[in-house]
Amino acid sequence: MDIQRDFIRIRPEGLYCPAGFFFLDPQKPVSHAVISHAHGDHAVADNRQVYCSPGTALLMHQRYGKRAGGTFSVKPFGEPFDLNGVKITLYPAGHILGSAQVLMEYQGCRYLYTGDFKLQEDDTAEPFEFVAADMLITETTFASPDVIHPSVGEEMAKLNANFGKNILIGTYMLGKSQRMTSLINRYCPDKTILVHSTIAGYHRVYENAGMPLGNWQPYRRNLFKVFTNSIYLVPPYVFKKYEGNKDFIQAFATGWDRGFEHCDIDLRISDHADWHDVLKLIEVSGAKAILCVHGNGKHIANHFKDSSIDIIRHSELI
Ligand SMILES: [Zn+2]
Ligand SMILES: [Zn+2]
Repeated sequence: MDIQRDFIRIRPEGLYCPAGFFFLDPQKPVSHAVISHAHGDHAVADNRQVYCSPGTALLMHQRYGKRAGGTFSVKPFGEPFDLNGVKITLYPAGHILGSAQVLMEYQGCRYLYTGDFKLQEDDTAEPFEFVAADMLITETTFASPDVIHPSVGEEMAKLNANFGKNILIGTYMLGKSQRMTSLINRYCPDKTILVHSTIAGYHRVYENAGMPLGNWQPYRRNLFKVFTNSIYLVPPYVFKKYEGNKDFIQAFATGWDRGFEHCDIDLRISDHADWHDVLKLIEVSGAKAILCVHGNGKHIANHFKDSSIDIIRHSELI
């Protein structure tokens, strides 16, 4: 069967599958939403019917409470289900707890939406699984030859220098904070980990879902002054409030080349695929067509321009 180049179309609400009348990670509430993972730029509140993994359902309820969505159809990894004639199976994407790739099988072709993914090891996400596909719909957040992620061990070692001060780490609330907690326990076992209240709720969801993070405790007022050799994890907006404060070492954890402006330590730890990982995904999947979403995909288009791989442009699908 021929690949339908417009199997996924771009609508104002987000990526749309006309064959199955559903959206992938819609940006506005819709009637049928297949959701790859619980980050805010992929999972919005108030969809009428949500199809997602167990971990994503728990995290969406933590994030949105009663507004998480009308009805949840919770689908374990690897168990196919039918959605208006399209056969769908979720596979782990290795990005955060519950993050899924969405395999859509239709009229003999396999279309794979990866959502955000990473191949790098992470104890706090179900490990990425390679899936064969005819067409890939993939993120290209960091798909540039300039982006090669450094080793996690080397980044974490930066926290072990003897500063004689406690360390404040700015980190995203969902995903990165839990991974950082697990990594600090592994690479800096002498440190006490304190966690901001907005992050602690997500920590508990992970632990209740059977994803242990190691030792940590919720931060209470002035606790930082009691401990020595401790690390306090805070979300970016709290981190900003401490700008210029000399009482502790300031670090920021992200794969983006930003957020480091006033930091003593940059922790370049990413939850997205780098250039090599995107190329590996394309190679192992065996895809003959690629649609790049999240990022402009121009490096991918350039890299494959003389190959037989069909690079589909956004503008063709609107
Ligand atoms: Zn994400
Ligand atoms: Zn994303």
